[in-house]
Amino acid sequence: MSYTTGEKSGKDKYKCTKCREIVVLDDTTDTLHPCLTCDNTEFKK
Ligand SMILES: [Zn+2]
Repeated sequence: MSYTTGEKSGKDKYKCTKCREIVVLDDTTDTLHPCLTCDNTEFKK
């Protein structure tokens, strides 16, 4: 399953599908933001 920028996908770690950078959401109200490294908008857990 993949996740896109803007989703409130819940507390977890998400891996950028392009550069494999890890984005961490530490609150259930956080929304997934574009990858800080490559600006990609698709992530996987
Ligand atoms: Zn990236």
